Amino acid sequence: MKTINDFNFQGKKAIIRVDFNVPLNELFQVTDDNRILAAKPTIDKITNEGGIAVLMSHLGRPKNGKEDKFSLRHIVSKVEEVLGKKVYFVEDCIGEEVAKVIGQAQPGEVVLLENLRFYNEEEAGDVDFAKQLAQHGDIYVNDAFGTAHRAHASTTIVAQFFPQDKCFGSLLAKEIESIDKVLNSSEKPVTAVLGGSKVSSKITIIENILDKIDHMIIGGGMMFTFIKALGGKIGNSIVEDDKIQLALDILEKAKQKGVQIHIPVDVVAADAFSNDANTQIVDANEIPDGWQGLDVGTKTLENFAKVVADSKIILWNGPLGVFELEKFAKGTIELGNYISKATANGTFSLVGGGDSVAAVKQFGLEKQMSYVSTGGGAMLEMLEGRVLPGIDAILK
Ligand code: AMP
Repeated sequence: MKTINDFNFQGKKAIIRVDFNVPLNELFQVTDDNRILAAKPTIDKITNEGGIAVLMSHLGRPKNGKEDKFSLRHIVSKVEEVLGKKVYFVEDCIGEEVAKVIGQAQPGEVVLLENLRFYNEEEAGDVDFAKQLAQHGDIYVNDAFGTAHRAHASTTIVAQFFPQDKCFGSLLAKEIESIDKVLNSSEKPVTAVLGGSKVSSKITIIENILDKIDHMIIGGGMMFTFIKALGGKIGNSIVEDDKIQLALDILEKAKQKGVQIHIPVDVVAADAFSNDANTQIVDANEIPDGWQGLDVGTKTLENFAKVVADSKIILWNGPLGVFELEKFAKGTIELGNYISKATANGTFSLVGGGDSVAAVKQFGLEKQMSYVSTGGGAMLEMLEGRVLPGIDAILK
């Protein structure tokens, strides 16, 4: 796996695909600069060595060509602030003006190109468009994990114009290394915590990871499909009746493969989906009619705490309960605390994919995890065992 550490960028122009798809407020100010911060180590390494960093990204989903609200011009001052240096912005991503600005750039300088998606050719993966992008650099660097699962011109197709001189930026390399650590670990036990609302959205992940893990903790809304499949009474809890057989198949497969499945034994049941609901802790398979399970209960958390404490590798995908409502956030927060503690004791923990990342951030646990993935969809596809086109294009 070639990374930026395998190159010396002195006197080189690097064309870098970054993910600067950041949120803007109504005044077009950046409200969350995490994605810019995440790309900084790669940009710094290149410019510190005396290379020229040419940055390309998309922003939002422009549908009608050049729409000002999606211009990367809005983020220039934030990028300058994060990098601590001037950024030369060009109002296009291909063509003569771009070539001119890059041609004038001095070693150590940064050029930012206009939104790639102002051209339909970007998402279409157009080869000619990719070729024009390729002309901006001597070395192609992909540091955009969030779009690595898309075969777009700037994320995948462009790589073919750099048969040797292409590599992963440090963010993308870290994402790949983290997931590799979980899925191909020689250290054991490996535990996957899966939560979230539906089994159906996790089935491919479950099938892919069953061969690679020792324990699977199941929480969130999806637990009720398993509990019902095992003959439990789940009241009004969320359930996918058409996935009952699938749940039984998963349990059987896990048994054959020697994977221990941990299903909640008690839940916080509520008489409404609301912070004002009445609640009671009941056995997970004895939920009264009219009540629904919205979080895991105390005994369950004690069981989960032990499994987490004994794990050497932990993957966490999906919340244990409806963490958006304070009354049902405890399970998710406690699990986060157990994983934090295990991590402090040397366990490797990866939090990836959508809502668990949001939960970890909301509860201030981000720094205590070994790695929190930056790409929702891309991470889920990797967990499903797919080869992402953006990654494959560099490895080829
Ligand atoms: P997903 O996008 O499939 O990972 O699901 C995340 C969502 O699942 C979050 O918005 C949670 O509020 C929701 N969720 C977690 N536990 C439950 C539950 N017991 N009942 C209903 N929804 C849940």
